[in-house]
Amino acid sequence: MKARGIPEDQLTANGTLLPFYEGFDPEKDQPRYALQPESFQAVIEGYACGECLKWFGGLYMAQCPTCGADTGAVQVVPAWWTEHPELVK
Ligand SMILES: [Zn+2]
Repeated sequence: MKARGIPEDQLTANGTLLPFYEGFDPEKDQPRYALQPESFQAVIEGYACGECLKWFGGLYMAQCPTCGADTGAVQVVPAWWTEHPELVK
């Protein structure tokens, strides 16, 4: 699943991912929130921040421009780029 876009119902008006209430965690004694699969995939791939949940508008970011957190995601270089060394001079 590639997170090119996030469905509008998963975004807030200010462009952050919208978490939903999943249930109460008795071990931590606090409510537990989760993200829809598309939103979660966007965080994993570096298209949204896992700390402040800012959606980067379809762009990959190594660091969140809003809160400065490291996204921890490594962008995979397409094989097409590495198969043409003559273009990298
Ligand atoms: Zn952030």
